[in-house]
Amino acid sequence: MAKSVLIICGHKNIEGITAKGLRTWRAWSQLAKSTGASGEKDWVWDKLMPLLRDKLITAGIQVYITDAIYHEETYSRDYDLCVALHFDAGGENSRCMISKPRPDIVPPFITSEASLQSDHFISHWNETYPAKTGIKLRNDAVTVGMTDYYCWDYVGVNTPSVIIEHGNNTCPSDHETMFDRTNLVADGDVEAILKYFQIQSEETDQKFHLVQGGVEIKTYDKNPDDIILELSGKLKTSDDALAGKTLEANELRGELEKQERDNVDLSNQLLKAQSEKNDANRELAVVQGQIEGFQNEIDKLRDRVTILDTTRLELEQKVKDAQYLQASQLSIGILAKAFITKLFHGKTEET
Ligand SMILES: [Zn+2]
Repeated sequence: MAKSVLIICGHKNIEGITAKGLRTWRAWSQLAKSTGASGEKDWVWDKLMPLLRDKLITAGIQVYITDAIYHEETYSRDYDLCVALHFDAGGENSRCMISKPRPDIVPPFITSEASLQSDHFISHWNETYPAKTGIKLRNDAVTVGMTDYYCWDYVGVNTPSVIIEHGNNTCPSDHETMFDRTNLVADGDVEAILKYFQIQSEETDQKFHLVQGGVEIKTYDKNPDDIILELSGKLKTSDDALAGKTLEANELRGELEKQERDNVDLSNQLLKAQSEKNDANRELAVVQGQIEGFQNEIDKLRDRVTILDTTRLELEQKVKDAQYLQASQLSIGILAKAFITKLFHGKTEET
């Protein structure tokens, strides 16, 4: 739904004002003489309002124009925004100002919600208008005439509303800006209005439509560009996480490979140790075999010694026997020799 803006053109037709729509305490006959600063109502009506109106219509906003007096058909409804156009005069200081309706009057000019929305718009205008036009922001100089503006009696309490003094007409540079660069002045207001509605539109449930060849293919609650940005962000986050995990996995793989290499080394060492142990066992068996062999030889030698001992004893006996025999034979021999010698000497000669 298009946004609606009511433009009140300051002082226009003020001479025709009546008590209609006003609070009872307003001096409407005095208000009829409030024709504004020199050249103000014509500048508003002829120069600023047409530019503002056309720019807002181009932006798709429903624009309602009214003069400075009450019209039942105009004020029997609320608007998304009401802007009252003015300029100021007095002294040579550059100044522009903006004000919402005074919030604490009874009965109220405006609901607290619409008052907050007015502040919202004012913050946009404060940022936009002075920067655009070079006119100095002087909201400290806002007057009771602005906060208690008689048109607040007319405007519905649910309509966010502001009154704008666009510049000081007796300040040469402000005058020049307002009359020679009115387009800038209008742009200052329009930009604030568009920013204000942009923020408002974000709060409502705006839909985005994907259309191809005049046929709606899909409807999104969120701007697809924002969804893509959001998803890209998520994708990047998950890519980063994946890269981190891959790095971790590579480190683990490296450690695992190192561990595997260590394991191979250990099993090689184990095999070598087992092989060395087998060699040692084999050597031990050989040595044990040798020991057994030696033992057998020792046993054999011991047997031979026993045999030899026996043999020696026998031999000794034989030697004794032989000696005995020899001794006997010797004595026999001696006897025999003596006998033979005697015999021989007895016969032939004694030798
Ligand atoms: Zn004025």
